[in-house]
Amino acid sequence: MANIPFLDLTQQYKIISPELNARVLEVLGSGSYIGGCMVDDFEQQFADYIDVSHCISCNSGTDALFLALRSLNIGPGDRVITTPFSFFATTEVISAVGATPVFIDIDSQTFNLDIEQLEAAITEKTKAIIPVHLFGQPLDMTRLMTIARQHNLIVIEDCAQATGAEWEGQKVGSIGDMGCFSFFPTKNLGAFGDGGAVTTNNRAIAERVRILKNHGQSAKYHYEHIGINSRLDTIQAAILQIKLPYLDSWNQQRRDLAARYHQFLSRITAIVPPRELAGSKSVWNQYTIRLKSQEVETQVKSCFSNSLRDWVSLQLKNKGIGSMIYYPTPLHLQSVYKSLAHPQLPVVEQVCHQVLSLPMFPELSILQQDQVISALNDCLPVCQDLIAG
Ligand SMILES: *Cc1c(COP(=O)(O)O)cnc(C)c1O
Repeated sequence: MANIPFLDLTQQYKIISPELNARVLEVLGSGSYIGGCMVDDFEQQFADYIDVSHCISCNSGTDALFLALRSLNIGPGDRVITTPFSFFATTEVISAVGATPVFIDIDSQTFNLDIEQLEAAITEKTKAIIPVHLFGQPLDMTRLMTIARQHNLIVIEDCAQATGAEWEGQKVGSIGDMGCFSFFPTKNLGAFGDGGAVTTNNRAIAERVRILKNHGQSAKYHYEHIGINSRLDTIQAAILQIKLPYLDSWNQQRRDLAARYHQFLSRITAIVPPRELAGSKSVWNQYTIRLKSQEVETQVKSCFSNSLRDWVSLQLKNKGIGSMIYYPTPLHLQSVYKSLAHPQLPVVEQVCHQVLSLPMFPELSILQQDQVISALNDCLPVCQDLIAG
């Protein structure tokens, strides 16, 4: 039996452990564990990498989004348009500041919000849009920014899964008014704990974020706002400083793996591989296929009582291959949003039953990937047998 994990973070650690261990011990011996030049240096390094003038580090991607909304004074009575297909934090923060999330449906091939539907959702209460570059793939920021500018809306890019991704040669997080990043360990640039950052070219916004992340303190022991305590630990900043120079090569390894998945999986009729838009340079935080075949689906249901997707996921598991479902339930259908009046969103409601994310991390070997591909190849003809039988 194959033993192919969905994700293995230990391999990357092994490769750079001498550098990391030395730097972590340096921090431990320094007596300075909060703030300091390592955090400042990382912020500068990350701002240069994204190509923005300001980077403000914080405790998580969730805090980055929360601080972005707070810095813009978005709150009760305001509406923020976003996607129903994301990690919960994207909409959680909209509700946490007292504003109302407005969901629009997604594009089934890219999994990102469907820009076609954007204008119809805008009202005079709409203040901002939070597009999510889901699974590492940027959405069409040219079109999105054109619509946002026409309607005077602020754009906060949720870049949590897309560190290093580009739209028409520009890094995500540098195109909208603000970018929000997560350094959660499973993201493309992951710390060894929580971490996050806000990027922007707007000096006034950057200053407000800096004040709000530090208890609303404008000068030492002078409080002008109700803020929060949201810091990137020195030890995490030190780790991220070492990892950032490797990010482009790791992202390239992900792109090579994605190209191979695409090459082989597009030949299997029941599989719809993800589509990458021209102009987009995805960094493939996830490689997510759709399992879609009316015929096979009906047959599988009659003897398995679950979706084709669940059946394939089980076949992979039986062969020792990891896979995950991102995301099983769209956000507008979460019980916490029961009371929100929302329209039906037919695309996402169907897609969430079809998606399956396959093993994807830079150190995944060609040999391992071939085993994933042949496992899928083997199990999908079995479906054909099911039909024949
Ligand atoms: C991970 C993630 C977040 C939240 O980041 P944390 O660092 O875990 O708080 C927000 N949005 C998206 C799309 C994410 O994937």
